[in-house]
Amino acid sequence: METGSKVCDVCGEAQPVYRQVYSGVSFCASCFKESIEKRVRKTISRYNLLREDDRILVAVSGGKDSLTLLKILARIERDYPRASLVAVSIDEGIPGYRDEALRLAADMCRRLGVEHRVYTFEDLFGLGLAEAMNRGVLGRLGLGACTLCGVWRRKAISLAARDLKATVVATAHTLDDIVQTYIMDILRGEFPKAPIGLRREGNGIIPRVAPLRLIPEEEVVLYAYLSRIPFQEIPCPNAQNSQRDLVRTFLAQYESRYPGSLFAALKTIESSIIPREGALTPCQLCGEPSSRTICRACELESQVSSLLGREGGLVRADIGVDDVEGVD
Ligand SMILES: [Zn+2]
Ligand SMILES: [Zn+2]
Repeated sequence: METGSKVCDVCGEAQPVYRQVYSGVSFCASCFKESIEKRVRKTISRYNLLREDDRILVAVSGGKDSLTLLKILARIERDYPRASLVAVSIDEGIPGYRDEALRLAADMCRRLGVEHRVYTFEDLFGLGLAEAMNRGVLGRLGLGACTLCGVWRRKAISLAARDLKATVVATAHTLDDIVQTYIMDILRGEFPKAPIGLRREGNGIIPRVAPLRLIPEEEVVLYAYLSRIPFQEIPCPNAQNSQRDLVRTFLAQYESRYPGSLFAALKTIESSIIPREGALTPCQLCGEPSSRTICRACELESQVSSLLGREGGLVRADIGVDDVEGVD
């Protein structure tokens, strides 16, 4: 890797492994890892993401971002004896894909001494994703697998959070993920309604926070690599989020040419967001906060049920993007 200095700019001793272009600082491996952990701590305190007595649910898919988040939070949590961590993985029912990720998540939790729970679509919604595809449900609803998966994954995390009495959910969204989502909103003709990954309470919401929101994706990958975190590298076999892929590619190219652009975009967009309070009310079916009377997850559940000839059968077709889990 191309580095500017002969020694690490932080410790002045070790050989640098990474030059952070947007700051001009060259880091050795251990100073780099320390700087990432420090930035996550700063992010948490700057935005008040976590409290000293939180029960924190960490959503762990088994990918590099979520395993990195888990590792860093486990370290931070040691300094807060009244806080506790529980890791939750959602098994969507994609045979052969999720198994490997679940094993990596379980291994990591065991090593860190963090409780690990797995919730399945099958148990929560009556069928897994592969079954929904095989039985032609998605085709008849005109839905991509990622849409159903994203909506249900989000709901599954909320149900798990209630089940485990979590006071906050920590997700592994990185700087890149968040800026991508904002840009996608704008390209869709909507200005982002609320900042992503900042603590919003009220109306029975279990807040979702993103402690990696100021860490570029590239640095999360490097942290995982330098920390020897084994993670699942195979992309989901159903992935087809072409819109996000286009935005991701564009932003990554732009950032490499004009370093610091992602931070600038985040700052500019978030300073212009006016969060609308009280926009969420309890879903009439499940009670989860939603911007609609029936949340998107319940709506899809009843559509799937009625297609399969099971109980329930409410069908409403408008699509709300705010109930979708976005990225993993
Ligand atoms: Zn150093
Ligand atoms: Zn609902």
